[in-house]
Amino acid sequence: MLESNPPRISIHTLEEAASLPKRWVFWMLQPLLLATVLVAWTASPDNPLLYPMTLFGVHVLLGTLEYLIPARQGWRQPLGEKLGLIGIAAVTLTMGGVASDLYGHLLAEPLTNWRTNLGLDFWPHHWPLLVQGFMVFLMTEFIWYWMHRTEHRWSVVWRLSGHGAHHSFKKLNAINFGANHPIELFWIVFPAALVDLLFGVGAAAFGALLLTTTQTAIVHSNIRLNATGIGWFFTTNAWHIRHHSATLEESNTNYGCAAILWDRMFGSFGNSGVIDAGIGLHEPTTLQKLLMPFREPEGSVIAPARIEAVVTRTR
Ligand SMILES: [Zn+2]
Repeated sequence: MLESNPPRISIHTLEEAASLPKRWVFWMLQPLLLATVLVAWTASPDNPLLYPMTLFGVHVLLGTLEYLIPARQGWRQPLGEKLGLIGIAAVTLTMGGVASDLYGHLLAEPLTNWRTNLGLDFWPHHWPLLVQGFMVFLMTEFIWYWMHRTEHRWSVVWRLSGHGAHHSFKKLNAINFGANHPIELFWIVFPAALVDLLFGVGAAAFGALLLTTTQTAIVHSNIRLNATGIGWFFTTNAWHIRHHSATLEESNTNYGCAAILWDRMFGSFGNSGVIDAGIGLHEPTTLQKLLMPFREPEGSVIAPARIEAVVTRTR
């Protein structure tokens, strides 16, 4: 007898019998978190403590909700697994700092010269900070959209970026925002560094960083969140979890990790629940994830075509 297909789960719908707190979280969590971070930033735009405070506050809140009201029970991460992911996120954040410093060191002078020579010295520093912050956010996300799309379409870029490691986890929680191959941070940090250094952005770059940091945590979270309205501009976890699908056609959608606007404009937006996350049926070991720039794990089905053909042949 044929087994029936497993259900396709979408987490941008609320269960009919959802309690009042669940309804409140569903409708209000994402807009309130984003608004809180932006208000805190505009009140104290140069406060360096805002970054660690945002990281800590957002992840404690989302981690608690994932424990209390998970969208998928099976995606709950036991304490040992969670601590392992916190350790990986710490390495990722450190590598992000290293990459950012390196770009600042290598690119500040040439990009400043480009700005002068190409007549790009027009950044509106006198505009409201919030508007500037959104401009940086959208420009950075535009560059990341095309880089991320390239990672998924060109096998050589998939390999060089180590992006498959980020997709190889079978359970998604907010902390997975930092579950990347260390070398991928040199890709991830590049768009923000380019926009900041080329246009001489200054203060607004920090606001965009805070917004992106908050968004990337929310989009990986295992909590039921509304995608209507807010999901026209910002990526919601429903859209990003579809990008983490273990089905190739579904994973090749929703490349905007913080803003979904570019996917809607460039035809890569997708809207459906997913059955399963990851690169295939099984999650690779940590060593296999680290070796992904050199060897695609057996059973990987979402890698770009050329790698997929090689992996299929070796099975
Ligand atoms: Zn991806």
